Amino acid sequence: MRKCIFCGRLCDPEQYALFRLPPDHRHIRDTVYAGYLMSRGIRGVSADLPGVCDSFSPEFGKIEWERGKPTLVTKTGRSSDILVCPSCHNELFRDTDVNVLTSAVFFGAKDSGKTSLVLALARECITKQFSPDEKYRYFFNEKLYDPNGITSVAERVREGGKPDDLRSPTVIYRVTGSSDGRVMCDVMYDVSVTDTFDEQSVNVTMPFASGSQHFVYCIPVDKLAEMIVSDSEAADIRMKLDIYGMVSAFRYAEEPPVLDLTVTKLDLAEKLGGAAADILRVRGDVRTLRNYITTAFPCIDELGGMFREVRIHTVSAVAPIAGDDEAIGKYYCEIFG
Ligand SMILES: [Zn+2]
Repeated sequence: MRKCIFCGRLCDPEQYALFRLPPDHRHIRDTVYAGYLMSRGIRGVSADLPGVCDSFSPEFGKIEWERGKPTLVTKTGRSSDILVCPSCHNELFRDTDVNVLTSAVFFGAKDSGKTSLVLALARECITKQFSPDEKYRYFFNEKLYDPNGITSVAERVREGGKPDDLRSPTVIYRVTGSSDGRVMCDVMYDVSVTDTFDEQSVNVTMPFASGSQHFVYCIPVDKLAEMIVSDSEAADIRMKLDIYGMVSAFRYAEEPPVLDLTVTKLDLAEKLGGAAADILRVRGDVRTLRNYITTAFPCIDELGGMFREVRIHTVSAVAPIAGDDEAIGKYYCEIFG
C-alpha cells in the first residue's frame, strides 16, 4: 500500500491506479466549461481540457506493467507511469509504502524556528548526502523543491534572513548501503500556526497529520529561558492550545505520534546568558532539560500522556554549537532513526 504524502490516503496502485496524462496529451476546447467560465465572469482560465471524450481521443488506453511498474499507454502509444492520488490528485510518489514512510510535522508559535529547522535538515541531506554514521545515503526529492533553491534559502537563513513557510512537504529518501539496499522515505511538513487555528482548520489543511509518526514542537531557547524566570501562565496556555490543535489532528490514528520537544535557536544561548546559558550547558542531560521545560510549561506533564512518548532535543539551525559540528545531522537521525 502506497501512501499519499499530501493527504495521507493509502492507495493500492494495482487496484486504484490513476495516472497523470502524458505531458504532450491533446487538449481541446470544452464548450460547456467555456460557458461556465463566462457565466461566472472567470477570466484568464483556459477552457481547453484534456481531450478524453472526443472520438479521436488518444487518451483511452490500456494499463501495462513495465518492470513491475504500472504504466498507462494511450492509443497513440504515449505512456505515463506517473501515478496520482485518487483523493487529492497530487503525485503518488514511489517508495512511499506505509512500512518505509516516516513523516514528521514541525510546528510551533510564530518565529519558533520551525521553517529554519526544516530548511537546515534538508540542506544537510542535500550537501552532505550521507548520514553522520555513513549508514545511509540521502536523496532529495527534486519534484517538490529545487535543491539549489532549498540550499540557498537555508544559507540566507544562516545569515539572518527570515524564510517563508514551506508550503509543500520536504521529502528525503534514505538508502542503506548494505546489499539489500533498503529505501526509506522521510517527509517533513512545515506547519503554520494558522493551520492549527481550530479543529476544522487542522482537518482541512493537514490531512497528512493523522498518520505522522512525529510531532516536532519547536520552543526557541530565548522563550524557554524567559518562561523559566517569569513563570507566565498565559504562555503556558498558548502552548497548550498549540498542542491541543495538533492532538485533534491525530485523534483517530491507530497509534499516537511521538512528541519531539525541540529547543531551537541554541546559538543564541551564550549571548543571552542566564537561564539560556544554563540550558546550553545541560543540553546533553535530557532529564535536567525536561525539568526545565516542564517548569516553564506545566502543560507538558498534562498533555504528554496523549502522545506515544515525549522526547527532548536541542538544536541550532543557524550556526553549529562549538565542538558539535554534526549536530544537525545527528538531530535528523534522532527524529528519523
Ligand atoms: Zn492524496
